Amino acid sequence: MDFDTPLFDTALAEAWVRAIAAAVEKEQARLTELDSAIGDGDHGSNLHRGFSAVLAALDDLRPAGSGTVLTKTGSTLISKVGGASGPLYGKAFRAIGAALPDPAGPADVAEALAAGLDAVRALGKAAPGDKTIVDAYTPAVAAFRATAAAGAALPEAAAAAADAAEQGARDTVPLQARKGRASYLGERSIGHQDPGATSTALLFRALADVAAG
Ligand SMILES: [Mg+2]
Repeated sequence: MDFDTPLFDTALAEAWVRAIAAAVEKEQARLTELDSAIGDGDHGSNLHRGFSAVLAALDDLRPAGSGTVLTKTGSTLISKVGGASGPLYGKAFRAIGAALPDPAGPADVAEALAAGLDAVRALGKAAPGDKTIVDAYTPAVAAFRATAAAGAALPEAAAAAADAAEQGARDTVPLQARKGRASYLGERSIGHQDPGATSTALLFRALADVAAG
């Protein structure tokens, strides 16, 4: 391995989680607005409460490996966040943490992120096109994998994943929700961006930002 290549290590794992917490804080009102349109309006406040608890948990955790940082993040989200998003993101982070070697190269990170997506799909039973987290997460993993397989370093793979996640979130606008509370609205869910796909895009953008250093 090229030693100039930045690796996903404990410091990066912690920086990623802290960057997500900051992004959730900044975008809380927007997430709530999106969830008010097609859900029950609690997505921003739920994630904000969850990641505030995660920050407190991380302060008690040091020193720990990157896998432990992420599994602790997941466990905290499961215990502190109501609605569907806590268990879904919680399981994702636990799966990512369990799959991640420390330190990890781009291909390792791609596979760990894919394990997180598998966990989301196993719990939520959502497929691409159902207007959920999966619609941002699936293209993000595909882009991360393809970019890493082409020999790109971590920052480049993470940036490609973030771009794909943001596009995937935008692409939920014309979809009719088939899972979650938004599905109760039927055709009235069309024309709104999915809040879960939107928070997933925040999560991948946070990874790209910290990987870029
Ligand atoms: Mg909600």
